[in-house]
Amino acid sequence: MKHISVAIDGPVGAGKSTAARKTAEMLGFIYCDTGALYRAVGLYCLRNGADPRVPSEAAGCLDRIKVEISLVDGEQRVFLNGEDVSRDIRSPEVSMAASAVSAVPEVRKALLGIQREIAEKNNVVMDGRDIGTVVLPSADVKIFLTAKPEIRAKRRYDELLNKGVKTTFEEVLNDLNERDYNDSHRAEAPLKQADDAVLLDTSELDFEQSVESICRIVRERRDVL
Ligand code: C5P
Repeated sequence: MKHISVAIDGPVGAGKSTAARKTAEMLGFIYCDTGALYRAVGLYCLRNGADPRVPSEAAGCLDRIKVEISLVDGEQRVFLNGEDVSRDIRSPEVSMAASAVSAVPEVRKALLGIQREIAEKNNVVMDGRDIGTVVLPSADVKIFLTAKPEIRAKRRYDELLNKGVKTTFEEVLNDLNERDYNDSHRAEAPLKQADDAVLLDTSELDFEQSVESICRIVRERRDVL
């Protein structure tokens, strides 16, 4: 049986992960956060003295890295060489390292199979930067989620404060702009809206409204499939 896939791409802090997780729950699909895979590679580099910004150093780590994702009580957990690193990958340092390693073609290639395999075996809502363009170009539904940079930075800042991470709004806004720039200007699988993706700007929407809009787009697209 062919499985249904919903691809959600967009810049940092557009609300992809929270909205995609809730949408998956409402549709009875599994949720896959692909950024976690790049974060795990970035974390490995930081822990092992490899500079994530130097492509040969990041690529050189790959044969020592095994990244897996699995669902534990419905929640995605990420394992790096067997260790559950789901919490450790969420720091601002790891965000920047993930953005750096994600520009390395060997890293992207190494993580492609894991993502495609999940979509082959499950009905999935998958979020990332290149899901609709590269990972699942035939996804049934594609959504490009975005919002104004200041609004995205405020959301990300509140999220980090809630997690007890010490930072400032300016720092979060700078990191976000830098990551978005890196992600949209890299040669390999840059962040961009797929031609057949529906654009959804959540600047004026709260969380419930964002989820409702995504579910509506999925229902409408599925009706015409
Ligand atoms: O989505 P998240 O912010 O957790 O992703 C971390 C980083 O991983 C992003 O800044 C991006 O550089 C990279 N990424 C990617 N392609 C994806 C998902 C994430 O390049 N599909």
